[in-house]
Amino acid sequence: MNIDLLGRTALVTGSTAGIGHAIAKGLAATGASVVVNGRSQAKVDAASGAITKAVPGAKVRGVAADVSTAAGCKALLAALPSVDILINNAGIFEPKGFFDISDEDWSRFYEVNVMSGVRLSRAYMPGMLTRNWGRIVFISSESGLNIPKEMIHYGMTKTAQLAVARGLAELTRGTAVTVNSVLPGPTMSEGVETFVRDLAKQNGQSVEEAASSFVKQHRPTSLLQRFASVQEIANMVVYVSSKEASATNGAALRVEGGIVQTIA
Ligand code: NAD
Repeated sequence: MNIDLLGRTALVTGSTAGIGHAIAKGLAATGASVVVNGRSQAKVDAASGAITKAVPGAKVRGVAADVSTAAGCKALLAALPSVDILINNAGIFEPKGFFDISDEDWSRFYEVNVMSGVRLSRAYMPGMLTRNWGRIVFISSESGLNIPKEMIHYGMTKTAQLAVARGLAELTRGTAVTVNSVLPGPTMSEGVETFVRDLAKQNGQSVEEAASSFVKQHRPTSLLQRFASVQEIANMVVYVSSKEASATNGAALRVEGGIVQTIA
C-alpha cells in the first residue's frame, strides 16, 4: 500500500517530542503538509527542523501554542484556520495515588487531555464536513479501558476521549470524514523515558531492567512484553489518517501489545 497524502494539511498537537513527533514525521513522509505544535517556539522550531532533515522534501511548519487553554487553541486557530487531518495527541500523565489527586489535578488533566481535542475538533470538523473529507484521530490509551489504579485521573481522561471520538463519528454519517481513537500501550516516548529513568534510579536498576520490570509488574497481560516504540504507534495513526482507511470510522484501534484481554 502506498499512502499518499499530498495536498492534505495535518496538525499534530504536542508533536515536539514522543509519539506526536513520530506521527508528524510519518505524515510528512506521505507528502502531507504537517504542522508541528508544542508550547515553546524553540522546541517547535527544533522539531520542525528535525523532520525537514529526516524526510527529504518534507513540508513542515510549526505553531507554538498551549492547546490546554481556550486562549492557546484560539491562537492556534488564528495561525491555522483549516486542516484536513487533526491528530489530538497532546497529553500528560503522572502516577499519583487517588487520595493525593487534588481538584486542581483533576481539572488540569481534563483540560490538557480532553478539552484540547474537544476545542480543536469543534473548530476544524465543520470545514472537513463541508469539504467532504477529513480525519480526526484522538490518541487515547489502553489506560482508557484498563483504568490504572496508580493514575485514575489519567484513565478517566483517556476514557473520555474514546467517548468524544465515538460521538463525533456519529456526526460524519454519509460523508468521507472519519473520527477514530488510537490506544497505545506503554510506549518509549521522551516523557516515559524520563519516568522509567526515575524509576530505575529509585530501585537501583538499569533503565532496561526498570522498563522490563515495569511491563511485567504493571502490565502483566502484555503479549508484547516490552514497551512499544513511538514508530509502532505512528504507523497505525498514519494508516488511519490515509485515504485507504476510508471504511474505518468510530473505531477504537488498539496498539497496546495485547494488554487488554477482551475481544471487543
Ligand atoms: P511526551 O511527554 O513524550 O510528549 C508529549 C508532547 O506533548 C510534548 O511534545 C509536549 O511538549 C506536548 N505537550 C504537552 N502538553 C501540551 C500542551 N498543553 N500544548 C501543546 N503541547 C503539549 O508524551 P507521549 O508519551 O508521546 O504521549 C503522547 C500521547 O500519547 C498522550 O496523549 C499520551 O496520553 C498518549 N499515550 C502515551 C503512552 C506512552 O506510554 N507513552 C501510552 C498511551 C497513550
